[in-house]
Amino acid sequence: MGEKEITIALAGNPNSGKTTIFNNLTGMRQHVGNYPGVTVEKKTGVVEYKGYRINVVDLPGTYSLTAYSEEEIVARNFIVNERPDVVVDVIDTSNLERNLYLAVQLMELNTPLVLAFNMVDVARKAGKIINTELLSELLGVLIVETIGSKGVGSQELLEAVIKTVNTGIKKKVEIKYGDEVENEIAKIMAVLEEQKIPTFNFSIRWIAVKLLEQDADIIEKIKKEAGEKYQDIEKVVNSSINHITSIMRNTPEVIIADARYGFIKGALMESYKEVTREEMDRSGVEPDKSEKIDRILTSRISGIPIFLLIMWLMFQFVFTLGKYPVGWLEIGFEKIGVLIGNIITHDLIRSLIVDSIIGGVGGVITFTPNMILLFLAIAILEDSGYMARAAFVMDRVMHKIGLHGKSFIPLIIGFGCTVPAYMGSRILENKKDRLVTMHINTFMSCGARLPVYVLFAGAFFPAIAGNVIFSIYLIGVLMAIIMARVLRATRFKGESEPFVMELPAYRMPTFKGLFIHTWERTWMYLKKAGTIILAMSILIWILFTFPVIGDNYSQDYKGQIEEVELLCSSGEITVDEYNSTVSEIEAKMAGERLAYSSAGRIGHFLEPVFKPLGFDWKMSVATVSGIAAKEMIVSTMGTLCSIEDSDVLSTSEGAGEESGSLKEALGKDYTPLVGYNFMLFTLLYFPCASAMAVFRKEAGIKEMLFQIGYTLLLAWTVSFLVFQIGSLFI
Ligand code: GDP
Ligand code: MG
Repeated sequence: MGEKEITIALAGNPNSGKTTIFNNLTGMRQHVGNYPGVTVEKKTGVVEYKGYRINVVDLPGTYSLTAYSEEEIVARNFIVNERPDVVVDVIDTSNLERNLYLAVQLMELNTPLVLAFNMVDVARKAGKIINTELLSELLGVLIVETIGSKGVGSQELLEAVIKTVNTGIKKKVEIKYGDEVENEIAKIMAVLEEQKIPTFNFSIRWIAVKLLEQDADIIEKIKKEAGEKYQDIEKVVNSSINHITSIMRNTPEVIIADARYGFIKGALMESYKEVTREEMDRSGVEPDKSEKIDRILTSRISGIPIFLLIMWLMFQFVFTLGKYPVGWLEIGFEKIGVLIGNIITHDLIRSLIVDSIIGGVGGVITFTPNMILLFLAIAILEDSGYMARAAFVMDRVMHKIGLHGKSFIPLIIGFGCTVPAYMGSRILENKKDRLVTMHINTFMSCGARLPVYVLFAGAFFPAIAGNVIFSIYLIGVLMAIIMARVLRATRFKGESEPFVMELPAYRMPTFKGLFIHTWERTWMYLKKAGTIILAMSILIWILFTFPVIGDNYSQDYKGQIEEVELLCSSGEITVDEYNSTVSEIEAKMAGERLAYSSAGRIGHFLEPVFKPLGFDWKMSVATVSGIAAKEMIVSTMGTLCSIEDSDVLSTSEGAGEESGSLKEALGKDYTPLVGYNFMLFTLLYFPCASAMAVFRKEAGIKEMLFQIGYTLLLAWTVSFLVFQIGSLFI
């Protein structure tokens, strides 16, 4: 006969109703023996259904698949070596969270799976409501409700089995154990790959996880295979275990188990309604601490206000506390600049070192305290477990703009620096979700843009600078929402895929962990200063300096200065008049010199593009230099506004009082409308060259070009409209 033969294995916790379901399926035709080599009972039976001959194997009842007991090893070896077509996990629905622990481990084995939610009668009586449809989608497996003792659901179970055989694994769910553990998993995987260790039908990731968990059975197997080479593997594994243990104050085994429960908790939080909590109250079961905190932090009523309060506190912490060290660094760099300026006599070399290197790189380093504080705040929120809750709370809001709650974490990081934010987008497994999140991250105004706002808002709106800056941030967030919707409706069409938001247990962050996480991101920011910004500062300096205007030209000005000197010494003008005239001449000189330089020419060349936005050639040049790093806009404007030479030299990117003269110069040259518009343009166009390099690494060159293209277009269009419409009224 053309009968198709398939094998299914029944797994499940003891007393979940496995034997009952086995009997329902196979009737009387069963065979009892032992698994080879062990005394664990093996029961098999057969059922004929719709042209399929289905062999059913009853696996030993287990709570987990870790090698704690013979039963667990037997169960997992059977699944991995005999490769049943489908594993049916029989679950006691009245005790869902605990029973899903095995299901999660089965999913990690990457075996086709069907969940039998047995004992739904008991669960229903206890008032537990489960959205099995949503849960099924979240977990990527079919779920069938059964009541084994009444024979309900057997046929549906067989249907689900056949469907799963035919479709295979629909969606691969991979549980993330958190950055700390993930990094170590990657290291162990690398050494296993390097040593070409066979993985016995397990996935290499799975083996790495088991080594971290110190699974005795797997260690034994690897030892046998690796022989001599095992020492190298052991070294890596031990160092990983030590690293994790010292940072998280718990063994990897505990952390990994926690992460699995975090995954289950996250899945149930969405699909298993409030009733369980009330039920727990009624049944007198004492909720654990984590549960109690969650009731407040993730509640529908208090969740969002608490979240907003925490965000507000975070920004206060970052900017209020950061103000002082930023000020010291600013003064420090200025002093260094003056000092070196005095030592070096050669004009060109002095200008290269003071203006370009100390000015450009120093400007970035000056803001490091803000970055450290922001990254520290984020590390505290992440390591304590709150960030996942915040994402959970924000999930509904994020869904409205077509994103998942998880997107929210990289977006927050984006307020600090877009580079780690892009990397943080990796937590989004779905590619479309990830790309949309990356494409809108630029509107989360990064720390490098703040000095630009401080300068321009201070120059044009001194009385209401704070509110003006706030309005720019707000417009950024608004733009992110709009663009997320637009991108979702066009290039990245499709529903944001539901997936489980892991909810890790609350944990007291360790100093070591906070230090490492803060440092990692700060380092990315500093590396930018040392590499790209250094190189770009020098390049821009070259553009500003060369070609040097001819000698005749400066002779001409020297003559003019000599003339004024004469007038002064003969007493025809006062010293004050003399000084102001000389500065005027010098300013003119600097201006002409710049107009003659390559940068000046580029600016003039680009001017027609920017003119409809109200920008002149200086702003055009500044915009181009902002591609290197947005902070450079400030120093470029400083150089270009040809204020007194000494001032030009010492104008750091500083947001402080020192740039007073630059503010004045800006106020003279531009209208407030143009000033505001320039801030808008700075906000909207793509972050910077180093961010784009990371974008390319994470998403490919095509997406990077799209990011550059669409943000430029958007920035131009918005600024065009603002200037044109604004000009009608002002
Ligand atoms: P096993 O340890 O997983 O093999 O569990 P059993 O099949 O031996 O079942 C344990 C007990 O639960 C038995 O008394 C069954 O009659 C009972 N049982 C099985 N399924 C259900 C169900 O869906 N609802 C209820 N109320 N009881 C069930
Ligand atoms: Mg049994």
